[in-house]
Amino acid sequence: MNASPADQRRLLEVAELDTRIRRADAARRNPPQAERVHALLARRQELAHELTTRLGARDDLRADLARIESDVAMVDARRARDAERLNSTSNMKEAQGLESELASLGRRKSDLEDAELELMERLEEADAGVAAQETLIAETNAEGATLSAEAKRVVAEASADFDAAARDRAAVGGSVPPDLMAYYDRVAARSAGAALLRRGTCEGCRMVLAGTDLQAVRLAPEDAVLTCPECGCILVRTEESGL
Ligand SMILES: [Zn+2]
Repeated sequence: MNASPADQRRLLEVAELDTRIRRADAARRNPPQAERVHALLARRQELAHELTTRLGARDDLRADLARIESDVAMVDARRARDAERLNSTSNMKEAQGLESELASLGRRKSDLEDAELELMERLEEADAGVAAQETLIAETNAEGATLSAEAKRVVAEASADFDAAARDRAAVGGSVPPDLMAYYDRVAARSAGAALLRRGTCEGCRMVLAGTDLQAVRLAPEDAVLTCPECGCILVRTEESGL
């Protein structure tokens, strides 16, 4: 393959644009925030699951408390009725029975009030647990929203850069002879495509060319299209090549 040194240098621009296109494509497909956003979505699901559990436990406590409150009301009603009957009875035996029932109702009420107090404490803890979980979820949502907005911006920028680089690539590529461009495309499928030979080093793979290889490059005619013996990309010679 032969091509003028100017056309060969143009391949360096094409290779640079190809690198930019690949980078922009990767960024628009998978912005750096994507991984964290996915992790947050999974975390949110776990947190929501735990919240459901905590809400369920709190509902149970509320139901228990309501039951105890209604038991207390029943005991109170019964005590009031017994007290009234005790006041109005003249039957000794009935009075004794009522007194004993009132005493037992008093103990029952005291037990119920102890249980009520304990339940109220547990309900307070459950409320705090629900609130803490809701805060965690809100924080997770906020971080997710921020990252999603950032990712959206990165994707928009990368897409714009991709389009601009693709346009430039078409323009520069169009100014290179088609056979050279076709050769570049074939080489680019498995290497950097084209790279500058700078001070004896291939910039496509960072290999320093061996003395004999460098000697062959020195002896090659100006319009010969050379490739790197290491990575196979087109080696472009300029005044920086150190030949
Ligand atoms: Zn190389």
